[in-house]
Amino acid sequence: MSVSRATPRTGKIASNPERLLVLASSLIVVAILSIVTYLLIREHAAAEQAATRAANNIVQLIEADVLRNVELYDLSLKGLISAAQRDDLKDVSAPIRHLALFDRATAAPYKGDILLLDKHGEVLADSASVVPRTGNYADREYFRSHIDNPDPGMMISPPFRARTAEHDWRISFSRRLSNENGEFIGVAEAAMRLSYFNELFKNLDIGRNGSINLISRDGVLLAQQPPLADDLIGKSFSNRPNFVRILREGNGSFGSVSSVDRMHRLYTFSQVGDLPLIVVVALSIDEVFAAWQRTALLISGATGALCIALFWLTWQLCRELRRRQDAEQELARLAAVDALTGLANRRTLDQVMNNEWARARRTNQPLSLLMVDVDHFKSFNDRFGHPLGDQALRAVAQNIGTCAGRPADLAARYGGEEFAIVLPETDSAGAAVLAERIRASIAALPPVSEQATPLTVSIGINTWSGNPDISLDQWVSDADKALYQAKYSGRNRVVSNMSRRSS
Ligand code: GH3
Ligand code: MG
Ligand code: MG
Repeated sequence: MSVSRATPRTGKIASNPERLLVLASSLIVVAILSIVTYLLIREHAAAEQAATRAANNIVQLIEADVLRNVELYDLSLKGLISAAQRDDLKDVSAPIRHLALFDRATAAPYKGDILLLDKHGEVLADSASVVPRTGNYADREYFRSHIDNPDPGMMISPPFRARTAEHDWRISFSRRLSNENGEFIGVAEAAMRLSYFNELFKNLDIGRNGSINLISRDGVLLAQQPPLADDLIGKSFSNRPNFVRILREGNGSFGSVSSVDRMHRLYTFSQVGDLPLIVVVALSIDEVFAAWQRTALLISGATGALCIALFWLTWQLCRELRRRQDAEQELARLAAVDALTGLANRRTLDQVMNNEWARARRTNQPLSLLMVDVDHFKSFNDRFGHPLGDQALRAVAQNIGTCAGRPADLAARYGGEEFAIVLPETDSAGAAVLAERIRASIAALPPVSEQATPLTVSIGINTWSGNPDISLDQWVSDADKALYQAKYSGRNRVVSNMSRRSS
């Protein structure tokens, strides 16, 4: 429809604030999510750090305790060896000798026994009783090692089951006895029950699914509290990936899955001094991060709700904005359109005439104006009434709108039963053709009702063809004059303005 050229193009401009709003809320949501994610990652790292620190403290504590005990064992062994080598002890009674041999042993908190063995492995003295037990320990690995190795240092044995009725797990600390020539004359040996470590570990809080482990450097599990499974003590873990890594790194911490119960744990570990022992504190990852998980769940939920609320608010605002834009567009359309005929109204016509007039003068292109007036319309109204008159006006307007088909053409209601058509870049010949087409098509229109008579229109044309002396008002008034000429010369005709033909 030719009137559309006059409708303000508000749609594109109005969509910008909407896009801006969506962009701003998206940026806010991204910022909120980034901040929350950063904080959660930081909290996660802090929880891991705190757990590692706590586990490390436990490891240090155990290490100190183990070292102190080993020292006490060694002290007892040294005491036993130096007492055993005194010749004057042979002359005292058995209870006195027993006291002299094992005096320092009483200070040790261990529960195992201390034995003095001769070079054949026979028991010479026993801390458990004045009359030594009968037995031969020559088959023990530590005993055989001491025979072959002149090193007088303390040796820690791999764990073994005691030959006593309890049959429990023990490790032994032993030192070689040599004569002045360095020849092997026996072994001083102290056995330590591994249940000692269980007692020590029991008092430490490492959560429900954590465990504290003492492992020999060759991978044998010496003590574990609480036990993760039956019969693990004495088993070798040397081929398990976690142990291989612990052995490789010496001290440190890492998270991994347990090969025993498939649980994800945080392993913190340390070598116990120069001893072939490693303490490993394994904390359950689930327990380490339980508090963090609760916080993360709460914060994620709250953040999610906040983001959804923000998006919902943005959506509501966008909807409201769109509603306003639509209303503004509708208002603008209504302000530009004639309510009865649907053609452009007088306001739009004035605007377009001004614009096209300025453009024509700028580009020096011809500009034509058609003034159309319905013939004898007053008598039509008088005869058939205003409702039918309105109907007839709508039919005429529709016809005019259809005929003025170029995008730049503008058909408008000038007032009452008069219409104006602005034809940019159209010379007088072209305007005459169009005017004649309009006149003829309206004359050929069927009556709007059975009672009504057919209508005709008179059309005045004026074309501006570059005369700089002509003003816009003159151009319009000349078109008007042409229309009146058409009226006076009999109506139902087209007249081009000849009086002020442009140069
Ligand atoms: P002429 O051929 O000389 O133009 O005669 P005319 O009767 O058409 O001219 P006149 O200016 O005397 O009458 C115009 C009439 O148009 C007056 C009025 O009844 C009618 N008219 C103007 N606006 C409307 C309208 O919106 N609806 C209706 N139904 N009639 C209108
Ligand atoms: Mg009139
Ligand atoms: Mg008229």
